[in-house]
Amino acid sequence: MYPAPFEYYAPNTIAEALSLLSQHGADAKVIAGSQSLVPLMKFRLATPAHVIDLRKVPNLTGIREEGGALVIGALTTHRTIERSETLRKKLPILPEAASAIGDPQVRNQGTIGGSLAHADPSADWPAVTTALDATVNAIKASLKKGDIVTLVGFGSFYVAKRNPRAGRNPRTNEPIKIKGAKVPKFRPGKALKDALN
Ligand SMILES: Cc1cc2nc3c(=O)[nH]c(=O)nc-3n(C[C@H](O)[C@H](O)[C@H](O)COP(=O)(O)OP(=O)(O)OC[C@H]3O[C@@H](n4cnc5c(N)ncnc54)[C@H](O)[C@@H]3O)c2cc1C
Repeated sequence: MYPAPFEYYAPNTIAEALSLLSQHGADAKVIAGSQSLVPLMKFRLATPAHVIDLRKVPNLTGIREEGGALVIGALTTHRTIERSETLRKKLPILPEAASAIGDPQVRNQGTIGGSLAHADPSADWPAVTTALDATVNAIKASLKKGDIVTLVGFGSFYVAKRNPRAGRNPRTNEPIKIKGAKVPKFRPGKALKDALN
């Protein structure tokens, strides 16, 4: 099936994309990897009159460390995340999750920002980013119509020491001793918030 006719735009800056969005309002949709929006358009479940492609907008892709935080551009593909050496070392759950998404074609085109904006409850990134307490710029609480996801940021993990302590078995209420251990801890960190502001 073919989508309904639409006007296609490829802005070169975020400002241009936002101006197109405000010009065309509810008749417009941004597009990133096209892996969710185009199937919806082909089934005519989405019929935007104006489609604004974000792929030429600079600085929306890539994975970088900023002040101890990991920041991932919204247009970074699943494949780039899957292959990132930085993420393999620092936060391997991300490449692992990316490798389970769809097939190579979907992973080469689909983006983390598109997946979060699409917000399919069965998708991988919404679950992973929720579990990691990720900060998502522009959709901290909810994504309003016309908002653009520009950055997906993560805090850092570090190994902390848990001291031995006395406790109680929650089922039997008997006193127990809890051994000291090394445990992973997550630190969202001021640096991450600063990086996103
Ligand atoms: C065959 C197939 C198998 C798949 N399997 C899986 C799977 O196993 N697990 C999984 O999680 N997903 C799966 N997907 C979905 C895939 O991950 C998509 O890539 C993802 O859901 C959408 O990303 P996209 O970049 O393609 O977004 P698009 O399709 O371009 O856009 C999707 C929606 O997000 C909006 N949007 C896109 N980018 C932005 C942005 N930066 N800011 C604001 N709004 C934006 C668009 O307007 C649109 O409403 C599959 C898809 C297909 C076709």
